[in-house]
Amino acid sequence: MNKLLGQENVKQRLKSSVINRNVSHACIFEGEDGSGKKTFSEAYSMAIQCEKGTGEPCMECPSCIKALSRNHPDIIHVIHERPNSIGVSEIRDQVVSDVMIKPYSSQYKIYIIAEAEKMTAEAQNALLKTLEEPPSYAVIMLLTNNILNLLPTIISRCVRFRLNPLDSGTVNRYLTEELNVDRYQAEMYTALARGNLGRAKSLIGDESFNAIKDEASRLVKNIRELKMSRLSALVKLLDKNRVAAGNFLDILLLWFRDVLMFKVTGLTDELAFKEEVSEIKSEASDYSCEGLNKAIEAVEEARKRLNANVNFEMTIQLLAFEIRSSLINDPQGKSPAVQEK
Ligand SMILES: [Zn+2]
Repeated sequence: MNKLLGQENVKQRLKSSVINRNVSHACIFEGEDGSGKKTFSEAYSMAIQCEKGTGEPCMECPSCIKALSRNHPDIIHVIHERPNSIGVSEIRDQVVSDVMIKPYSSQYKIYIIAEAEKMTAEAQNALLKTLEEPPSYAVIMLLTNNILNLLPTIISRCVRFRLNPLDSGTVNRYLTEELNVDRYQAEMYTALARGNLGRAKSLIGDESFNAIKDEASRLVKNIRELKMSRLSALVKLLDKNRVAAGNFLDILLLWFRDVLMFKVTGLTDELAFKEEVSEIKSEASDYSCEGLNKAIEAVEEARKRLNANVNFEMTIQLLAFEIRSSLINDPQGKSPAVQEK
């Protein structure tokens, strides 16, 4: 558990609960996707079941070895069939009835319910019965990115562990030292990750990410000659892929922040797009602070529209036009005509 990054307070509480044999029957790990809920709940389960009981998984006793290969009979990962909901029958079969059977080889029987916010109201009510009168050996762990979707009666029976975003130095060090990410790349991933290690890792492993990044920087570089054909290609690339569209907007934001920061401070140390420093310098001299701020607002606005399910193609096109009209100062008050082809 010591190897897990950050969250010192949570780690301390988890460890002392194991050492003091004060493990709660129910707990909630809450935090956004990628914040480490799965990693923490699994490490905690191992620590609880570890035969040495030091508060840390020893990684070598039979229990730890079984847990590492996900073969521990008394650590149960609750699964669900439909991607967006956990039904009452799944909770009944995998938790409520199963918990009546004593642990196979350990003192505790642990259930990990990931994406607990997807439990239907019926499923939560079924689980509530178990939480109200749990067998002495039962430990139920709920992982959720949105605690508001859980019934207050469930929440009130659980100990809560909140996983907060990590500071950027921690994320950056992990990327460069543990994952051997190139220093320049690491700065960009760190900035885009906003303290979320899972997000940083998924960006690194995402092959489409570089294409999206190139597309975003091409859009900004060629904003004066905005072509409908290029916009259509962009929409096609991002089409209906929430993650890709989110990454695209994040990259644009980060880009404009870089230009604005260089314009205001003249410093390049803190730039996320260090490899594009000459382009950033030239844009900083071309664009006004006001225009850059407006472009940033346009990106934030586009994010809101996408979250509100406004038409995807229209949102991306509108965004491109808004960025152009924010950045390009037209004394006549008319924006240049969009070029076809
Ligand atoms: Zn062990």
